[in-house]
Amino acid sequence: MDLDKAIGLVAEVPDFPRPGILFRDFAPLFASADGFAAVTAALADTLDHDVELLAAVEARGFLLAAALGQASGLGVVMVRKPGKLPQVAARADYELEYGTAALELPAGVVQPGQHVAVIDDVLATGGTVAAACGLLEQADAVVTGVSVVLELDGLGGREALSGRQVHALHSS
Ligand code: 5GP
Repeated sequence: MDLDKAIGLVAEVPDFPRPGILFRDFAPLFASADGFAAVTAALADTLDHDVELLAAVEARGFLLAAALGQASGLGVVMVRKPGKLPQVAARADYELEYGTAALELPAGVVQPGQHVAVIDDVLATGGTVAAACGLLEQADAVVTGVSVVLELDGLGGREALSGRQVHALHSS
């Protein structure tokens, strides 16, 4: 499937999870084998050649990174919401477009000096991905870049990640 058509499968849902938020729902895209494959192939093209590991942001980042990892011969580290990991290397608290949140990195998974690309579905304010990058760097990994499917314009995501290589398959 053509990439634009695949991204067109992402549904726009008004007033979720709060009034005034237009939520991008990836469920129809993930449910389309061809659409998911097109997005996975496009994400693979964004990866630097020296990437050794993918960091997946819970939860939609898990699906994207799992497919991308299998397509690219790379493993995945899950960057998780609090309370899910049995052994935590570090935790980062950050602001969201709607509220606050935190992420945790598992202990003993990322190797010092390892080149890691961060994968997520949506870049909005950039707080989530910035937190994931910070956690990886606390573990002495080298963040090679950030790859997302959708970048939401006007929310400052790129500015929050200034100095980092940010790849978005589509912006709107
Ligand atoms: P940020 O931290 O950049 O403000 O928000 C991005 C994070 O929130 C991502 O992990 C993403 O999954 C989630 N997110 C924010 N807005 C949306 C949205 O409209 N649709 C989806 N699917 N996720 C969103």
